[in-house]
Amino acid sequence: MNSSGGLTGDHLVLLGSFTDELSEIYGYLDELFNGNIAFDQSYPLCFFSRDFVEKLLVKKQWGGLCHVQDRSGLVIDTNGDILLCNTLDNVTIAKYGENFTTAEELMVVLNSQEIRNSYREITKYPSVICVQCAYNDVCHGGCIAYWTSLNPEACVALER
Ligand code: SF4
Repeated sequence: MNSSGGLTGDHLVLLGSFTDELSEIYGYLDELFNGNIAFDQSYPLCFFSRDFVEKLLVKKQWGGLCHVQDRSGLVIDTNGDILLCNTLDNVTIAKYGENFTTAEELMVVLNSQEIRNSYREITKYPSVICVQCAYNDVCHGGCIAYWTSLNPEACVALER
């Protein structure tokens, strides 16, 4: 297990790669926090057991969708440049002073065909297997950044 953890206010932060361990401690956490827990999970759902995933979804304790997948957010760095997200912080969408200087100009850039096409490409499922997966609308393949090191052959289509 490669993880660390701690309580920060009302958040329990667990870091690392430990999908099996998370499934095992879930029952204890759920009881400890009286069901008031949510997992902001970045791994694809098929990295967990189907029963565990279903339990979290039924109890609305799963919060894995990132802002890139549904274009609901952006990151602005200290230069005013627009980044895809805070993990893929080397992916710049628009540079302040070069591509835009006003909010109106930024909107033109964000709505350009080039940016739309880029989002379409980057938010594709990691594997064709995902197309047949009953959970693809929730999972979307998990965190895009992870697939720079994960093997798409690890995807397993789940059934409901
Ligand atoms: S959508 Fe793809 S990555 Fe997500 S659970 Fe299904 S097969 Fe796995």
